[in-house]
Amino acid sequence: MSVSAVIEALPRLAWTTDLALVRQKSRDFFWYSPVLKRQLNRVTGEAVVTPRDEAELRAVLAAAYAHDVPVTPRGAGTGNYGQAMPLRGGIVLEMTAFDRLLWAKPGVARAEAGIRLIELDARLKREVAGEIRFHPSTKRTATLGGFIAGGSSGIGSTTYGILREPGNILGLKVMTMEAEPRVLELRGADIQKANHAYGTNGIITELEMPLAPAWDWVDVVVAFPTLTGAARFADSFTRMDGVAKKLACVVPAPLPQQHFKAWGAKVPAGHSVACLMIAPPFTDLLPGLIASHGATQVHAEPSDAAEVPLYEHSWNHTTLQVLKTDKTITYLQTLYPAPNHLDLIAKLERTFGEEVLMHLEFVRFGGTVCAFGLQIVRFTTEARLAEIIRLHEEAGAPIFNPHAYTLEEGGMKRVDEEQLAFKRQADPKGLLNPGKMAAWDDPDWTPGKRQAVHLYETDYEAPAELLE
Ligand SMILES: Cc1cc2nc3c(=O)[nH]c(=O)nc-3n(C[C@H](O)[C@H](O)[C@H](O)COP(=O)(O)OP(=O)(O)OC[C@H]3O[C@@H](n4cnc5c(N)ncnc54)[C@H](O)[C@@H]3O)c2cc1C
Repeated sequence: MSVSAVIEALPRLAWTTDLALVRQKSRDFFWYSPVLKRQLNRVTGEAVVTPRDEAELRAVLAAAYAHDVPVTPRGAGTGNYGQAMPLRGGIVLEMTAFDRLLWAKPGVARAEAGIRLIELDARLKREVAGEIRFHPSTKRTATLGGFIAGGSSGIGSTTYGILREPGNILGLKVMTMEAEPRVLELRGADIQKANHAYGTNGIITELEMPLAPAWDWVDVVVAFPTLTGAARFADSFTRMDGVAKKLACVVPAPLPQQHFKAWGAKVPAGHSVACLMIAPPFTDLLPGLIASHGATQVHAEPSDAAEVPLYEHSWNHTTLQVLKTDKTITYLQTLYPAPNHLDLIAKLERTFGEEVLMHLEFVRFGGTVCAFGLQIVRFTTEARLAEIIRLHEEAGAPIFNPHAYTLEEGGMKRVDEEQLAFKRQADPKGLLNPGKMAAWDDPDWTPGKRQAVHLYETDYEAPAELLE
């Protein structure tokens, strides 16, 4: 394995070898997890390359294959579970130069994987009065390819569900890592081969996405004396299929009051909130719905006029807003499955009280309405965190563990045979983002099985401001 041999073979490409910059581009937001922070804090790559087109990308993959050099793709590096971190060193492949919108027509668009989501939506709104169906709360920085390879759901899932729902991705073009890299177009059910695979079985170069109408969204905040009251309201709002909506997020007291500077002071003490995004023609329906739930609207403004858009208080931005002033917390990712999700939420709120604050996102999932949790956890020990996870699962609330960096442990806790088989075809040497697909490293992997971990680490101390 020789990164320098690859660089020598391709001198005209855009390489970065400065130790501090390489270290910075070898990290994502893994440090939200105290477990991953302990495990991955010294991980680094050996060089970063930013290919400008498919020819350069093909050259990098072929040369790295020839020299047995690991390649870890990167979009904007906003993932939360070390997804874009090069566990085995090698080359960090930054895809941000693949930033073109290729075409757009009413209802569908095709773009390169490195385009930033906020730029994509601005172009789509201008050109075809459309927008992508849903986006992460990191819309201002994240790339399209990074969302598809590492994300799952977000603002808009209230209406369209998650990325795995058939129809939410229409086409996906990948380049393989072989002696002669191939370009493959995945469509229909084949899309799941590379969807949310962390780039372990192909480099995504282009994506074809269905679009939703681009409304001038309105941000609305409603306050409730209880969390369960806010949850019932958000559930009702999400079920209003006739209403164009994009967000139904519930944040419990005292988080808005303590951490949401933009409008937290408007929320009465002890009250939880429901944060909504709704299209203007439908706002007439809100006063009646709010009154019927005995609640109070405390804030409203056009989303585009907001200094900090409401969606940057939702999904994992809720965690970010709290972390800004309280580094002792961490978070979970939980499914409260229908139909008893409201009862389960109430039960778990009673079980954990202040230790686990029930931040909820109401979504469509598998054709029905339920809730995801990105609960704020007052972190004490890793053992207690594991116990909290176990108690949730025993109560019937599956956890998508954000304190693990493999696909299996962070996801459905089972081997995705289809993605594993595709990796055998597309990355026969296992050089793409190594260490992230447990079943590749250990064919006998089973849930909970501890794995031998070989990390490429550095003892170089980069300037702290570059690292978080
Ligand atoms: C504050 C905060 C809020 C967040 N909110 C959300 C949210 O609402 N919903 C959500 O789903 N996620 C969320 N995330 C996680 C993350 O921001 C998103 O998943 C985002 O879409 C990742 O995009 P990125 O360009 O930063 O990808 P990166 O972090 O760079 O990459 C993510 C994964 O994709 C792989 N990858 C990147 N580009 C390619 C490519 N072209 N080909 C193949 N593989 C590739 C990387 O190797 C990595 O495994 C949040 C994170 C933070 C820190």
